Amino acid sequence: MQINIFADILKANTESARENRRLLAGKGLTALNLISSPGAGKTTLLEETIKRAGADISIGVIEGDVQTARDAERIGKLGVPVIQLNTQGACHLDAAMVAEALKELPLEKIQLLFIENVGNLICPAAFELGEDGKIVILSVPEGSDKVAKYPAIFEKAEVCILNKIDLLEYTDFNREKFYQDMNKINPEITVFEMSASTGEGMESWICWLKRKTQDSPKA
Ligand code: MG
Ligand code: ZN
Repeated sequence: MQINIFADILKANTESARENRRLLAGKGLTALNLISSPGAGKTTLLEETIKRAGADISIGVIEGDVQTARDAERIGKLGVPVIQLNTQGACHLDAAMVAEALKELPLEKIQLLFIENVGNLICPAAFELGEDGKIVILSVPEGSDKVAKYPAIFEKAEVCILNKIDLLEYTDFNREKFYQDMNKINPEITVFEMSASTGEGMESWICWLKRKTQDSPKA
């Protein structure tokens, strides 16, 4: 007899993701799941996004990390509501963890919720959280081959942020190959090239976020 535990886990997760989605939609929130490898710049992207869009959109954040509250402390300094989730070893967030965080956030006041997943390009692709969209962040130093190597997340994401483009000239990142692979895996994806640390290229991402949030009844 074969017992497919993973399939059962995923099924239970999809069910609680559906409950999160219902709750968030009822409150008029837009939720985005940020997924990348460790060090691709998720938290820096969030800080810079809050600085640029925070006056127009009320933002809330769920920070997922294996350990520490360091990222939540960085976000908290910007004055937005933030909850840190520590997975105690688990390599991805699941919908039940997010449900716990949602209980602690002032959902009435939030239009746009960012859920920063645990740094990992693999299993976060499989675990729905109840989000409206997945944002995958790939940084230039990781290499252009990552799209072909980890296709699931690039296939499911609505947006890919190609971050740290200020480092293009110092790496062998092949932009042409990156777009070729992306086009095969997900021709519908929107790509924003930027450097969250220099600010280059961030305007179109901020415009996209504003449009995305305007669809919600709270805007
Ligand atoms: Mg982080
Ligand atoms: Zn995992």
